[in-house]
Amino acid sequence: MPQGAAAQQVARVLRDRFRMPLTLSTLPTGAPQDTPSPSDDGFFAITDSHVGFGSLRTGQTSADADSAPMLPATSAGESLPYDPDEVVDALRTEAYIENDLPDPTGTDPKALVRRAYYFVRPLLSTNVRRVAQRRALAGWDTIRQPQWPVDTTVEEIHRRTLASAMAANDVDRVPVIWYWPEGYNGAVIMTHDVEEAAGLAFSPEMARIDNSFGFPSSFQVVPEVRYDIDGLVLDEIRDLGCEIGLHGLNHDGGLFSNYKVFSERRPKIANYARRFNAVGFRSPVMYRNPEWISELDISYDMSFPNVGHLDPQRGGCCTVFPYFLGDVVELPTTCIQDYSLFNILNRFDLDLWCTQLDIIESENGLANFIIHPDYVTEGKALKAYKNLLAELDSRCTQGNLWKAAPADLADWWRLRSKLELEQVGDEWRITGEGAERAQIAWATRNGDTVTISR
Ligand SMILES: [Zn+2]
Repeated sequence: MPQGAAAQQVARVLRDRFRMPLTLSTLPTGAPQDTPSPSDDGFFAITDSHVGFGSLRTGQTSADADSAPMLPATSAGESLPYDPDEVVDALRTEAYIENDLPDPTGTDPKALVRRAYYFVRPLLSTNVRRVAQRRALAGWDTIRQPQWPVDTTVEEIHRRTLASAMAANDVDRVPVIWYWPEGYNGAVIMTHDVEEAAGLAFSPEMARIDNSFGFPSSFQVVPEVRYDIDGLVLDEIRDLGCEIGLHGLNHDGGLFSNYKVFSERRPKIANYARRFNAVGFRSPVMYRNPEWISELDISYDMSFPNVGHLDPQRGGCCTVFPYFLGDVVELPTTCIQDYSLFNILNRFDLDLWCTQLDIIESENGLANFIIHPDYVTEGKALKAYKNLLAELDSRCTQGNLWKAAPADLADWWRLRSKLELEQVGDEWRITGEGAERAQIAWATRNGDTVTISR
């Protein structure tokens, strides 16, 4: 390094998201931890609607998101006041929030209450459950971070990091590898967690409905306790172009309560995955632990909500793109669940789903839906589900969105993560297995952010 030159850091986020050439992925300075006195980890606002978490090179963070200080605008060539790799990791693994998971083997009084709730839950009427859940969720709509109804802070950080790298490398236009295969503008996946025997019985009909709209959906089944799994039913679902995944082991809410329980259940889950030819997973109740999920023998997981305000485990990964937890591809659940929409918000129209889809489409991201077969067997819920599929079908046609099978989408993200951009003379080309499915896009810098177009 020439004397006096600023230290350089390769931004991992630029390699991950944009598959940027290494030479163009450098930022002007080192990480905040390399500076003499970085701030404590905390919240800071990048825009009115994007709140990050981590340490700052200059300035102070806030211990709560509501009072997160707004970062001053950075000018061209100036380094970001945070380490984008650190901040993106903190958001995607929810390091910004304390986890409070129920422990069926522990003596924490809160855990006992939840255990009791789980024990009696099948006996409670939906009305009683609704009242209990609404009380537990009070104030959810005033939470600042993650941003309701879709948080795109990770995307905003990627744009700013790319602009910073472009300014540092003194370029105004750089090639990136487009996110989706075959030139699609975005992706939609339809997924179903099968809760009880009635849901399993309805699943083949649901697969037929999905198939009639062209959606190769996934059905996550609970291998133990809840119901007997008839192999013929699974075959019927697969024959309609859908896939089988796992919804935990027994749905008692305790999979991630402590490592002993998790490590006892992990090999059992692996056995069921082999038996059902399942490569996908969603944790019951969306209880989750990013490190332990990365230890599961699966291809992809879908246990992280984008915004978890209406789920028992709060938080959210603040992104509408897949990412890696170790070797596991995380496909975040980016749209509100049917149960929350119908029973907590008491709505059966498409407005909220459409608002979420507008945001996700504008980011060219992944729309990932959970609809439970148990809750849409008839009436206005079934009607709402069919309306949703019709809306999605129309958006996929008009917006050129990929109706992906979740396993195919995870495979693509893994394949894409090994593609590289190479310069040959004046031309850029993509190399690696699957390169023929990928496209080059171009990022143009506008001050401290970028526009990406093809
Ligand atoms: Zn469930």
